[in-house]
Amino acid sequence: MKLGFIGTGVMGQSMVGHFLASGHHVNVYNRTKSKTDKLVAKGAVWCDTPELVAAESEVVFTMVGYPADVEEVYYGEKGIFQTDVAAKYLVDFTTSTPKLAEQIYQTAKEHGAASIDAPVSGGDLGAKNGTLTIMAGGDEEAYQKVEPLFEIVGKTCHLHGSAGKGQHTKMANQIMIAGTMTGMTEMLVYADKAGLELPQVIETLSGGSAANWSLANYSPRILKEDFSPGFFVKHFIKDLGIALDEAAKMGLDLPSTALAKKMYDRLAEAGYESDGTQALIKLWWQDGKKS
Ligand code: NAP
Repeated sequence: MKLGFIGTGVMGQSMVGHFLASGHHVNVYNRTKSKTDKLVAKGAVWCDTPELVAAESEVVFTMVGYPADVEEVYYGEKGIFQTDVAAKYLVDFTTSTPKLAEQIYQTAKEHGAASIDAPVSGGDLGAKNGTLTIMAGGDEEAYQKVEPLFEIVGKTCHLHGSAGKGQHTKMANQIMIAGTMTGMTEMLVYADKAGLELPQVIETLSGGSAANWSLANYSPRILKEDFSPGFFVKHFIKDLGIALDEAAKMGLDLPSTALAKKMYDRLAEAGYESDGTQALIKLWWQDGKKS
């Protein structure tokens, strides 16, 4: 199948690798062209604009950073909607707003195309291992068409309803992660101060009811003082902002999520916005080094 992929950063890089390995033709575009070099060496085809990617592909995936980036690649001067997208499938993997997902769905429909919002969870490791969780919104028929492609990069894929519902599901996911990241971080800070052996504490807690993904994947990175992304602090702040906005629209107060966002805002203000989210410990441990 002729696939297109726009945004070959931490996540997109690995995802395109899986599509290529499974025998698909993949047209690629990224703002910084050099980030497609390795993929082109593996057989991907560089296109000069998102518009050209869309023109040359049956299914177009986007995995960019922020909602503004999604708007640009879809609606910009050289964006996807500049070409004839009739009968094509447009899938946005970016974590973005439900409203923008609904807007893209409508525009796609007007152009005779189908759109699915399909944000993912599972981190850089999930992308590398092809084990992402994919939460989709859109029409059932379009979802059925693209699901076999989702299975190349993901392990758990579900349609959660109409356009935007994938993004709402991702916000539910991020609200949960806000708790596991702050909990895991405070646990380490406390256990360290109490004089406990952290690797042993992690092993013990991983076998009990405190077990969770953040503990399993991020606490070992913290002990190795590896604060590379992973999942960027700046992207988590974006996600928590969207989640809190959506909650406010529904008349909901989410104090724990709001506090987590404040903590990550402080971390970004301290200059760590391009670290991975495990860098939250730097609010206690200077430069992430144990006291
Ligand atoms: P990333 O490394 O920053 O990748 C985003 C890529 O999109 C970058 O290579 C960027 O290009 C490109 N891009 C941005 N705007 C563009 C535009 N207008 N035109 C073309 N390319 C553009 O981020 P990531 O970690 O892969 O995350 C991507 C998305 O997935 C984010 O929404 C994030 O919240 C979400 N997500 C991430 C993870 C994770 O663990 N990393 C997990 C789940 C979801 P440049 O190279 O020029 O910056």
